Amino acid sequence: MNDKQQVAENIERIKAELNGRAKLLAATKTVPPEMINFAIEQGVDLIGENRVNELLEKYEYIDRSRVQIHFIGALQTNKVKYIIDKVDMIQSVDRESLALEIERQAAKKNIVMPILAEVNIGNEPTKSGVAPEKALQFCEFLNTLPHVKLCGLMAIPPKCENLGDNREYFCKMRKIFIDISTKNVDNNIMDILSLGMSDDYLTAVDCGSNLVRVGSSIFGKRNYNI
Ligand SMILES: *Cc1c(COP(=O)(O)O)cnc(C)c1O
Repeated sequence: MNDKQQVAENIERIKAELNGRAKLLAATKTVPPEMINFAIEQGVDLIGENRVNELLEKYEYIDRSRVQIHFIGALQTNKVKYIIDKVDMIQSVDRESLALEIERQAAKKNIVMPILAEVNIGNEPTKSGVAPEKALQFCEFLNTLPHVKLCGLMAIPPKCENLGDNREYFCKMRKIFIDISTKNVDNNIMDILSLGMSDDYLTAVDCGSNLVRVGSSIFGKRNYNI
């Protein structure tokens, strides 16, 4: 894990590279609250957590007055109730059963939960997300849920051998995004395209991403054993 000075330099560099084209979400899995709060001070736009338990452990220590927290990881249906009033967006909505549970829990709290639909852009059997050809249908379904607000799309492309090979997937995502946004006649503004991580955020932004999720390029290599 990087020290504070390194983290500050990384954030400054990445923000300069993004140059206002995309929001910078700091992916903070395994990062302790003190370092998360330091990153917030340094100007990251959003925080993204992957695991429900870890989020709950860190939640009260994170300075939430300045940034929103997004949930970006695989989400079990039975855990939605623990985070429904703690996160500002769930980016990883990948199936109808999960959306229905978010609807149910949000209704209980009388809130509307902003979400992104996750697309399995590489059609990988081991990855979550709806198949690209099912994305429109899934979004139409999401738009029928009164306590769910569909704000855009998210994807994690296949691991590519060469940097730059992801461009094809990012571009495919942009096409789907534009397609669905145009067809979205329900007055529902879908304006977030969440694409790009440490190795490929600049390619993603080139292809139209406006929210990048960056972990190790800010905080250094993760240590999963803590
Ligand atoms: C961990 C994670 C990231 C950031 O990954 P890095 O390669 O460390 O930048 C982005 N998105 C999701 C969903 C993640 O789980």
